[in-house]
Amino acid sequence: TPAIGVLALQGDVREHLAALEAAGAAARTVRRPEELAAVDGLVIPGGESTTISKLATAFGLMEPLRERVRSGMPAYGSCAGMIMLADKILDPRSGQETVGGIDMIVRRNAFGRQNESFEASVEMAGVEGGPVEGVFIRAPWVESTGAEVEVLAVFDGHPVAVRQGPLLATAFHPELTGDHRVHRLFTGMVRSAAR
Ligand code: GLN
Repeated sequence: TPAIGVLALQGDVREHLAALEAAGAAARTVRRPEELAAVDGLVIPGGESTTISKLATAFGLMEPLRERVRSGMPAYGSCAGMIMLADKILDPRSGQETVGGIDMIVRRNAFGRQNESFEASVEMAGVEGGPVEGVFIRAPWVESTGAEVEVLAVFDGHPVAVRQGPLLATAFHPELTGDHRVHRLFTGMVRSAAR
């Protein structure tokens, strides 16, 4: 059983822990470098990416996170987590940094005011059994991607789920729906990386 951490600085940590357990992983919170070192993969939850970024720096986790991602640890980010895994933010707040790893530029709060929060069915490559119900909450979209990035889902003409090797990101929140297929996909990625 892969041990998968959830970065527990801010955001919807509990929902990811539950979804990971349901997907067959041993889920645990990560707040300290020692806890990060002990997991096979990591989820960065939805929440507020500026806050997560600042807390990661304050907790001495930013460099260890970058180091583990550079050395191939599988990671999955939803919404704010997607922003954290982006190499670049189009419109960062001051002091906002990312872990990076996915060669993409993201736009924060991209869907605009009228559409701050909405749900939409999204076909996602690698997830079988029909579309996933995408819960978008002040979600980012992917503005552009490098050659190594696989676009798994598009909504409104913009990528909203991407993968680059062992790194997965969605603009939406599958952890809020009770549908564990995205977490199962990620758990499978962690299993195959551990082999
Ligand atoms: N708008 C948030 C941010 O920029 C993300 C929202 C979310 O994770 N639901 O960090």
